[in-house]
Amino acid sequence: MAYSKNTRIYLLIILAAGWIITLTLQQLFLEEKLYRQTRVLMGTFFEVISADERAGKIVFDEVLRLEQLLSKYKEDSEISRLNRSGKITASPDTFYIIKRAKELALKTGGAFDITVAPLVDLWGFTERNFSVPDSQMIKEKLALVGSDKIILRGKNNVVEFMFSGMKIDLGGIAKGYALDRAAQKLKENNIKNCLINAGGQVYALGKRSGRKWRVSIRPVRKDKKADIFELSGQSAATSGGYEQFFLKDGQSYCHIINPKTGYPVKSGVVSVTIIDDSGLSSDALSTAIFVLGENGINMLKNKFSKAKFYITKD
Ligand code: AMP
Ligand code: MG
Repeated sequence: MAYSKNTRIYLLIILAAGWIITLTLQQLFLEEKLYRQTRVLMGTFFEVISADERAGKIVFDEVLRLEQLLSKYKEDSEISRLNRSGKITASPDTFYIIKRAKELALKTGGAFDITVAPLVDLWGFTERNFSVPDSQMIKEKLALVGSDKIILRGKNNVVEFMFSGMKIDLGGIAKGYALDRAAQKLKENNIKNCLINAGGQVYALGKRSGRKWRVSIRPVRKDKKADIFELSGQSAATSGGYEQFFLKDGQSYCHIINPKTGYPVKSGVVSVTIIDDSGLSSDALSTAIFVLGENGINMLKNKFSKAKFYITKD
């Protein structure tokens, strides 16, 4: 069939317009294909969701590297060596996270404190052989608590405890830090969009199909609706007493310890979710607010001006 020159031009314009509209519709309505990769790391379930298939390996390699430095459950980690000997020359990552943890202890008035480790052990949360200690034992361990008792020498990355018997536990901050580092690694590899879920704490890098990532946080009570958060370049961390606890004589004892009293927290809060720009600060802050209870939000909201606080009490 022969077309005039004008008809051919019209046809070309119609075809091009159709192509542009299809592309726009695809961008607007069609979700891009996402890869979902999972692995158990840092004692929890890591899940990586991205349109770039490389994302899983990049995240898992980085988290594994950090787990080997920071886990108190790995005998040859830097944290285990520090807890045994009271002094180490630390890698930049270990030095940085301890430095940030010390700052956060100050900022939260000691509610978040990694030196709570001897008490976490005493109540049996490390080995899962739970028991209610007598008050004298608690008093003895409390004397070892306080991040001001950790000495840092930035010149040669030395970390040293002031007193023998001191220990640290990064369980309230390491996952958040690992999320930040993993997101950084993704960016270095030119991956701009990815959602990482580290056993309930998430980091949302970039966007999903041009929109913020939508993340739902599972409620403790099954009859309640899940909260939906829209995140981009942010992390959401949740702390709650229901995650790990034991029952003794009708009392429930949870895994988050009040560093002031030495007892598992009873702040009247069921769970706290914090959204902040970094995984590290949202992780530590959710633990701190759980310790402080609802009033903690008023105490800390000016010091963490970008953070959003959500609390459940029943
Ligand atoms: P998260 O689930 O992030 O709130 O962290 C809880 C974990 O942090 C516990 O399992 C302990 O390993 C550790 N931890 C317990 N109490 C505290 C505290 N007051 N400050 C810092 N870390 C804590
Ligand atoms: Mg935490």
